[in-house]
Amino acid sequence: MQYDFAIVGGGMTGATMALALAHMGHESRRPARILLLDQRRLGDGPHQGFDSRAIALSYGSEQILRQLNLHQAFLGSCGTISSIHVSDRGHYGRAVMTAEEYHLPHLGRVVELNDVGHGLLKQLNNEPQIEYLAPASVVKVEVKSTGARLQLADGGVIETPQLLLADGGESHWRSALGWRWLETDYGQRALVTTVQSLDAKPGRAWERFTSEGPLALLPLGDGRFSVVWTLAPEHAEQLMRLDDRLLLQQLQQQFGYRAGRFSRIGQRAVYPLVMRKTLDVVHDGCLLLGNAAHQLHPVAGQGFNLALRDVATFYHLQSVRWLAGKPAGGAELANTYLQQRQADVSRTLQMTHGLAILFASDAKPMIFGRSLALWAMNRCAALKWPLVRQALGIQESLR
Ligand SMILES: Cc1cc2nc3c(=O)[nH]c(=O)nc-3n(C[C@H](O)[C@H](O)[C@H](O)COP(=O)(O)OP(=O)(O)OC[C@H]3O[C@@H](n4cnc5c(N)ncnc54)[C@H](O)[C@@H]3O)c2cc1C
Repeated sequence: MQYDFAIVGGGMTGATMALALAHMGHESRRPARILLLDQRRLGDGPHQGFDSRAIALSYGSEQILRQLNLHQAFLGSCGTISSIHVSDRGHYGRAVMTAEEYHLPHLGRVVELNDVGHGLLKQLNNEPQIEYLAPASVVKVEVKSTGARLQLADGGVIETPQLLLADGGESHWRSALGWRWLETDYGQRALVTTVQSLDAKPGRAWERFTSEGPLALLPLGDGRFSVVWTLAPEHAEQLMRLDDRLLLQQLQQQFGYRAGRFSRIGQRAVYPLVMRKTLDVVHDGCLLLGNAAHQLHPVAGQGFNLALRDVATFYHLQSVRWLAGKPAGGAELANTYLQQRQADVSRTLQMTHGLAILFASDAKPMIFGRSLALWAMNRCAALKWPLVRQALGIQESLR
């Protein structure tokens, strides 16, 4: 079977890439043959890529989703972030960022991955250019300068000039094909759940730095918050064993009452926190995307936002070639993609890693430094702007 594009991994990144390429086919009136392959099928029970997590999408990401005609799948039901309150538990520093001070309608949205999965599945099912092959498994991949050849467990063979690997942070094919990457284990866990607040301020997100790491509350729009609580592994295990009433008490005690009185807690899950950075995301006719390319600490809510900017860049570069009647992929496209993505990827990784380290430390000079930074940022919007611009994924042209 021959496809213009074959994508292995149909999580948030892979499914988005497939639909973006289909959009390219519509725009150019030259349909593309796209294969999206996953070991699990969306809609067939629990799916690791679309679990109970909620994530923040930046203002810049929302603009990209609109350009790719994917806003309905992602933003059908979502919370809105109009301000972010950042504080350091037990210390003086605090900063507030509002959409108003940056002349934006809002700073971002909060989406539940489960809902996004339903929205994406609906669009995948309605897209004749995409073959969604799942559950399916690839047993062998051969990569050449002209593309890739995939052998499937059922004996099928796929040939494509452009293979895109989006099989997640633990990517099997990243190691099997000899990619090298750097990995930092933060020695932390993220406990993720939702909490109902009886008197939440609409649109306000909270990030509170505690002695174990950041505790973030993202507004889901109906008085509920998505909670991402960074903890030492033993503490996370201990909290996971508590019943709902005791966990709710612990959360309220840790966070205080700024976001209201918490009344009900939802389903919980725990994630190990690591950073992974692949050294060179392109191998001949094959490209790594999403968590397979770079996996981030959730402190700044950047993982999927960064992946989406990768998807958008690939889409734009490929669209120009496609419109000119050229085939999929190619070394020139891969090189331009690398050049265009390098700076943003390094900045985002550095910012996220820096925040994860800075706000996890209990050393006095670090506490003093971050209190001072938060205090200064709170007084001067210009000081916040470089950080805010990166976090919101804003290009100057979007403002
Ligand atoms: C606690 C937490 C909070 C977060 N908060 C935010 C946030 O606020 N904002 C943000 O932007 N990001 C956030 N993120 C990051 C975001 O969730 C991820 O970046 C994103 O979900 C990654 O999607 P992915 O498709 O790249 O990878 P995955 O979700 O891992 O998907 C990989 C897919 O590949 C499939 N697969 C795996 N192996 C194979 C194989 N061998 N063959 C075929 N298929 C395979 C899997 O079934 C899966 O569908 C957060 C992450 C965590 C853990």
